[in-house]
Amino acid sequence: MKSIKLGYVAAVAGLFAGTSSAQQPIDSAYTARIKELTPTDKRWKFTTELVETLPASSTVPTPLKILGYVPGTIGKLSYVADINRYFKAVADASPRTKLFSFGMSDEGREMIGLVIADEATIQNLEKYRTELAKIADPRGLSAAEKARLIREAKPIYWLSGSIHSNETGSPEMLMELAYRLAVDESEHSRAIRSNVITIITPVTEVDGRDRMVDADKQARSLKLGPGGVPLVYWGKYTAHDNNRDGMVLSQKLSQNVMAAFLKWKPVVVHDLHESVPFLYTSTGTGPYNDEYDPIVVDEWHILAYQEINELTRRGLPGVWTHGFYDGWAPNYTLLAVANLHNSIGRFYETYTSRGADCHTVRLPATSTDRRWDRPNPPVNGVKWCIRSNINYQQSGALIALRYVGDHRETFLKNYLAKAERMIERGQRSAPFAFVIPRNQKHAAEAADLVNLFRAQGSEVHVTTSDFRLKSGGKDTATTAVSAGDWIVRLDQPYSATVRTLLAIQKYKVEDPPPYDDTGWTLDALRHVETIKAADSTILTKPMQLLATDANVRGTVTGNGGTLVVKHLGDWRSAVLPWKLGNARANVAQAAFTVDKVTYPAGTFLLENPSAATKEAVQSLGLTGVMSGSPITVAKRAITVPRVALMHSWLETQNEGWIRYAFDQMGIPYTYISDQQLRRPNALDRFDVVVYPHVSGPVASLVNGRPMIGPAIPWKKSAATPHLGKWDETDDVRPGMGFDGLSTLRKFVERGGVLLTTGNSSNLPIAMGFTSNLSVTTTTALNARGGIYRAQPVATASPILYGYDAGSFPIYFNQSPVMSVTPRDTTAENLGIDPAIVAAREAARAKVILRFHPTADSLLVSGILAGGSELAGRAAVVDAPVGKGHIVLFGIRPLWRWQSQGSFAMAINAIANWNHLNFQ
Ligand SMILES: [Zn+2]
Repeated sequence: MKSIKLGYVAAVAGLFAGTSSAQQPIDSAYTARIKELTPTDKRWKFTTELVETLPASSTVPTPLKILGYVPGTIGKLSYVADINRYFKAVADASPRTKLFSFGMSDEGREMIGLVIADEATIQNLEKYRTELAKIADPRGLSAAEKARLIREAKPIYWLSGSIHSNETGSPEMLMELAYRLAVDESEHSRAIRSNVITIITPVTEVDGRDRMVDADKQARSLKLGPGGVPLVYWGKYTAHDNNRDGMVLSQKLSQNVMAAFLKWKPVVVHDLHESVPFLYTSTGTGPYNDEYDPIVVDEWHILAYQEINELTRRGLPGVWTHGFYDGWAPNYTLLAVANLHNSIGRFYETYTSRGADCHTVRLPATSTDRRWDRPNPPVNGVKWCIRSNINYQQSGALIALRYVGDHRETFLKNYLAKAERMIERGQRSAPFAFVIPRNQKHAAEAADLVNLFRAQGSEVHVTTSDFRLKSGGKDTATTAVSAGDWIVRLDQPYSATVRTLLAIQKYKVEDPPPYDDTGWTLDALRHVETIKAADSTILTKPMQLLATDANVRGTVTGNGGTLVVKHLGDWRSAVLPWKLGNARANVAQAAFTVDKVTYPAGTFLLENPSAATKEAVQSLGLTGVMSGSPITVAKRAITVPRVALMHSWLETQNEGWIRYAFDQMGIPYTYISDQQLRRPNALDRFDVVVYPHVSGPVASLVNGRPMIGPAIPWKKSAATPHLGKWDETDDVRPGMGFDGLSTLRKFVERGGVLLTTGNSSNLPIAMGFTSNLSVTTTTALNARGGIYRAQPVATASPILYGYDAGSFPIYFNQSPVMSVTPRDTTAENLGIDPAIVAAREAARAKVILRFHPTADSLLVSGILAGGSELAGRAAVVDAPVGKGHIVLFGIRPLWRWQSQGSFAMAINAIANWNHLNFQ
């Protein structure tokens, strides 16, 4: 190890002998701290010459000077305000840096980006930004201009820290890296500064970071050990799933990332994570997403093997690639944003330091075995500290930055080629475009899809005349396209997002197991109609670029006294009762015909509507007709319920998405925790309890965490100002307990509605709240996070208001597979009183929606094996219990702001809480 280090120093000294760079003094106090904090071992090294000293600067402050400690100090994690303050101090002092705001979080903390390059580059930053933008969109450039850009432009390499809040090392590391890149006069850092423009975002999930610093502090002060206070909340809505939002950009964090990407068009986006030992640099196992250019897959490998080679030569154990994740779902926020926009999206997983701590490494053989793809595996028995984590990440980043700088032209040529190939693909092969008809059942939802594509940086056009498209192949049929329809041309550089979001995914069963979702086809999930254009003439049709977001406004026509609004089976229809102020919505209980138009059950009837009511209908994009004719159908008033949205202290990941959806749709709720159910009257003031998916066995759902040792508070205090914002407790361990179960059951029996999704549906089944419903254990089924075909069964149930009687796609992930035992008809034959039979029947759990009964017809998009175990099983069940109901969704109706097509079933169940019985 020693000889390698000496050889490097000699080389640097030789290159720069006699220049000022060779004489740059080191910051000796800081360097001494780095040495103290870095574990030593007889055999292995946990640092490199790139980071073991820190150069001194007379102008730019070190993190030690601003924060009072060196990154990697045990027990020291930095708050966002302090990190941002440090970056501002660097930007104020160094002409080689410039600081930008990347936007605010949900809770008002700022995401930043510090740009670092040599002084001349920073002075001409706008020129370099513009040049890169031209390479990213080379339409109309001459060959000479492209050649000039490749010669002169500089790649941007964006490093982002801590999107995952319990992965704590990267913000600390990035402060030191920013300083080093700004002041270091070594040949290595000078080469990076002159050839690469580095952007550093020290913290991506800024709200969760502050919460993590508090949780770590709390755990230390209570002597609970590292991780002793679980990070129940990260951002406002999402925890770990903040990194599953790259496709739909629902969260502020993702919107900020996307906007920053579109402004800077970085060639590489490098996301810093922590989990597996010691440094996993991403390539994945495959299968890779179909839309990723083969070039980017090569680039992942080129960069990964460069880091592996350089760090392994320097004696660092456990630097490896290939395994860990697949590369299929394009939902990992920063990776998706990069890889779907012709950039390189990559990540590290470095080994955790459990907050800011040290521990002795004790790993299972699966982590330390020497394998074909891991010839330099992690090792056991060594001491690992937060400084080890920082040294690994920082050394790796410096190697990658240098490599991209040294091969600047190659990376720029690839960047250009990926953009050109994307454009050419759309010019030369079908599909040439997608048409999104303006006039369709869910037009407002279609407009949302259009606006998502625009947010992703894709151009959307609007046709200015009617025309017909050939279907392609031997098919002689044609498809009508109307003026006003939206067109997404695929002969544009940013079309990969559109391609993958509207494609059918086919995940092969024999491929490595999926890391996350296998299918996400968004038009299917959102019940939006799109047309794949196989006719190349579409690219020549008259159309105009859409310059602002699409907006579908509804209409109210006619002159009568009753406003008739058809329920379209979408969330906009379902939420109408909440949008009417003091006005009441009546709903038709059966189909009826008025003014020669037939309306289904569930149609809204609004008597003598005010201007505000008409406006509510129109702003939701709905169609209303004022009718003066008598409407004789049976109707009833909708009484908007008092809703409790219940979370568990085990996790808030999944309820967070439902909370987000309710906030977006404008459904008011009271946010309660399952612990509150221990009070018998806790649910007296509610009509509906929504209990979203919580992972784990039913015993955990009931009992919470093990009641061992002292209480674990999640509470705001002077020392922990960022905890407790959304909810707080003196002890996160207890669940609802048996008292809570009793409260829940009594709530339903007295007429309340309990709505469960996913795994939470197991609770009322296992606890015997309902008798003729069970969960089937599957052995062959593989339905990991995909889209499957479902069929309405109880078409008279208000839960299905607005839905067509045919089948439609829903999101489902493996379990629970519910079964309702068939009705026992022998009772009728045995001469039992028909009234008794009817009463029994009324009390039975009923299938509302089932999975398609034919296994071969189940799969819409994603993976499926063992489909016969799913075919015909219950997807949504309504179980009457006492005077109330339990509505159990085995599917996930409000999945990650993706599954809008099934939103209305959940909202219908809530809106019609007191009329869920049906004939
Ligand atoms: Zn992570």
